[in-house]
Amino acid sequence: VSERPRNFWGWGWEDALPSEDARRGLAAQVGALFGRDVVPRPLPRLEDVTLDAPRLRAPAHLAEIASDAKRERVLHTFGRAYPDLVRGFTKDFGPAPDLVLLPRNEADVAACLAFGVEQRVAIVPFGGGTSVVGGIECVCPQGMRGVASLDMRRMNEVLDLDETSRAARIQAGATGPALETKLVARGFSLRHFPQSFEHSTLGGWIATRAGGHYATLMTHIDDLVESVRVVTPTGVWASRRVPASGAGPSPDRLVLGSEGILGVITEAWMRIVPRPRWRASANVYYARFADGAEACRALTQSGLHPTNCRLLDAREAMLHGVADGSSAVLLLGFESADHPLEPWMTRALEIAHGTGGVCPKGAIYKDAGDKVEADAGAAWRRAFLDAPYLQSALVTLGIVVDTFETACTWLDFPDLYVKVERAVNEAMKDACGGGLLTCRFTHVYPDGPAPYFTFLAPGREGEEVAQWRAIKRAASDAIAAAGGTITHHHAVGRTHRPWYDKERPEPFARALVAAKRAVDPSGILNPGVLVDP
Ligand SMILES: Cc1cc2nc3c(=O)[nH]c(=O)nc-3n(C[C@H](O)[C@H](O)[C@H](O)COP(=O)(O)OP(=O)(O)OC[C@H]3O[C@@H](n4cnc5c(N)ncnc54)[C@H](O)[C@@H]3O)c2cc1C
Repeated sequence: VSERPRNFWGWGWEDALPSEDARRGLAAQVGALFGRDVVPRPLPRLEDVTLDAPRLRAPAHLAEIASDAKRERVLHTFGRAYPDLVRGFTKDFGPAPDLVLLPRNEADVAACLAFGVEQRVAIVPFGGGTSVVGGIECVCPQGMRGVASLDMRRMNEVLDLDETSRAARIQAGATGPALETKLVARGFSLRHFPQSFEHSTLGGWIATRAGGHYATLMTHIDDLVESVRVVTPTGVWASRRVPASGAGPSPDRLVLGSEGILGVITEAWMRIVPRPRWRASANVYYARFADGAEACRALTQSGLHPTNCRLLDAREAMLHGVADGSSAVLLLGFESADHPLEPWMTRALEIAHGTGGVCPKGAIYKDAGDKVEADAGAAWRRAFLDAPYLQSALVTLGIVVDTFETACTWLDFPDLYVKVERAVNEAMKDACGGGLLTCRFTHVYPDGPAPYFTFLAPGREGEEVAQWRAIKRAASDAIAAAGGTITHHHAVGRTHRPWYDKERPEPFARALVAAKRAVDPSGILNPGVLVDP
């Protein structure tokens, strides 16, 4: 548990938000982009935040693991979606939980759930609080006395490691760095690196079916889960450790993506790998985004399985400092702990050239310990990690800025791309007078890509959330109309419910409600997420 304070309203560490000078520089850049004066607004201070008095008191037997301190309640009020950042920045912490519960072990988790059932208190499982879909918001449904956020941060150990089968038993509250540090010390790695890696947790990844950095193959956390243990209000749900099983519907599958409505994930056996020794990377430039997309399709259908196969459109490449805005860029990479990668990269570049790509610098090969010059891939990685801090800084400038993502078939992609671009550009024009939209592929599959969009538009003070809502609605409607999913890896939460409800088959929705009723008959767990309270 880190002593370094987290920003109570914005992304990440308090001390890592761009400085006043940096924000002034950014304001000048954004002002030039939108042709208007942009001025940084003063940062909020925690001491100026006021909260309603808690509706609940912790019972004596939970006193040691409960807190109603202001800082804890504030830090557990919102995830890190754009509207969360705006509400936090404007010191509006209305939906703060009444209590924060910090279990140390499974017995504590069970006691917290029993408290919820007995006292009619909603319990919202909380990992790192990086949800971008309202997944951890403490909404108190009718008939409940209050809401407690159940934070798993004290359960953050790597408990066991099976080197023979290559799996590790890890507690759900471990953040990316916490679990990687311990695995790396033993020569292994989970190699699941979502952009939120530094602050999100294993339990959150499993509960939201997070997507990591691999562009192909093992991208979703689903592929890395061997077995999982969940404490529900009616007992422990633990699956058997096996590499695969055909024994009926998989119990793990129901937990994956359950977003805290069925139980609290306490630990999981996760598939781990040795750290890669060989790496290869190349940047391929395309005059047309569509040609780069064709290369991605051919690459994913080739059986080469590149680790990285990220296509950035020209605007995205320019914003990330990877190209000058005149070409799309395909960032291609391979890694292996077992073999050098020349044959794979050589064939991948043949495919990439075949659709009109050019790779002026050729491929870079790296053996463990080699130092290589910073390249476009490195520039992109740096910008990728800084992006969440940049988004918070843009919020302080009154800019409406967010990302949304989907997945669709290769057949549907061209139409989806056109429809989404048109709908979002029109919505930005109506709501903000204009804006900028970029696209990249975060993950690619043999049957389709996962396109990821970023938009930026000038906001009007006090109306930013309404402006964002109009753009988000237009984007989500366009995605649904074009046959895409409402989310490839950001999860459903509260924000995506209307589109998720239309996407899932009705008999499945009834089955999910029945499953929830079976394990959480009092409906205390994360009410309103995935199913109605
Ligand atoms: C800047 C930024 C970058 C991001 N990048 C990515 C990315 O690359 N890939 C990606 O997939 N997502 C990404 N996300 C979204 C988010 O990080 C993921 O959804 C992540 O999996 C959430 O993990 P968390 O530990 O923060 O969970 P939280 O936000 O705390 O919770 C998310 C959901 O999971 C439930 N939950 C959490 N822990 C448990 C548990 N132990 N048991 C049961 N339910 C639980 C919560 O109730 C909630 O419904 C990003 C978000 C931000 C803000």
